[in-house]
Amino acid sequence: ERIVSGDSQGYEEWEERSLRPQSLSQYIGQKSVKDNLKVFIEAAKMREECLDHVLLYGPPGLGKTTLSLIIANEMGVNLRTTSGPAIERPGDLAAVLTGLEPGDVLFIDEIHRLNRSVEEVLYPAMEDYFLDIVIGKGPSARSVRLDLPPFTLVGATTRAGMLSAPLRDRFGVVSRLEYYTAEELQEIVERTADVLEVKMDKQAAEEVAKRSRGTPRIANRILKRVRDFAQVRGDGTINYAITDEALKLLQVDKLGLDHIDHKLLLNIIEKFRGGPVGLDTIAATIGEESHTIEDVYEPYLMQIGFLQRTPRGRMVTSSVYNHFNLEVPGK
Ligand code: ADP
Repeated sequence: ERIVSGDSQGYEEWEERSLRPQSLSQYIGQKSVKDNLKVFIEAAKMREECLDHVLLYGPPGLGKTTLSLIIANEMGVNLRTTSGPAIERPGDLAAVLTGLEPGDVLFIDEIHRLNRSVEEVLYPAMEDYFLDIVIGKGPSARSVRLDLPPFTLVGATTRAGMLSAPLRDRFGVVSRLEYYTAEELQEIVERTADVLEVKMDKQAAEEVAKRSRGTPRIANRILKRVRDFAQVRGDGTINYAITDEALKLLQVDKLGLDHIDHKLLLNIIEKFRGGPVGLDTIAATIGEESHTIEDVYEPYLMQIGFLQRTPRGRMVTSSVYNHFNLEVPGK
């Protein structure tokens, strides 16, 4: 399992729960998303209505699940969470929706993975708070209408483009989460260190932040691993030297890149003179699936300006040559 992956690694779920900020004021960064939500939440409360449906999109680990919890807290209602793949049939969705109390927040993670038949049941539920469910089969089948309590759907997806247009159109609020700046991540690391009651100096927090790919989940994970090193090799206090040593052993470089990133980038340099080269060709030469490269490895490499998408394929930039101390060709 990749230490620098934004995805949650099963066993972390429980631990993460204790690290989640509980209110908008504790939620660091994502200023424009927060500013908007603050207004919408306040307005909905003034009208004594539930909040409009919210779609959150952005890479994994940036705080979508956390925001859904905060929305429920700020609205003073319950949160129910489920995910696209967990709702297999319309009946599964009906069971979840009819169990809601008025005003509740329903969080559906990976909402782009809902199947068509479920999606179609969701439309009237989102728009007018009712369900049309077909009971029985063949000639005896009949449709039953179920009224639902008003609720707020918070949907999360890694890419808004993967959502069908009719579903996307039913969200009143659509917010894109961005990678965090190093300063914001440092604040998150310092907050997590406080929650975990571990001593950490500023320089160490800054270093963890710089190597966490703009992603709170990665920052918290690295912090926990570094804490182990500090306990075993030091006196429990996390300082810069221990952080640097731990990250060297974990093979996470100064920019948060690991061996897979290195392989991808060096492959383009060594075999394709820096590109452009097609995604499928890269995939074949490094033995990864194209969509994994596109969804998992590339977004951060593009974010830091290491990789560019051109009409003729992927190209590395001169920053990559500098990062690996290689001579920039053509100079
Ligand atoms: P996502 O649902 O986008 O994959 P999560 O909401 O599960 O991400 O966040 C992953 C972890 O990062 C959580 O443990 C949470 O504590 C932390 N986190 C995310 N966003 C923030 C933030 N803005 N401030 C502090 N911690 C955050």
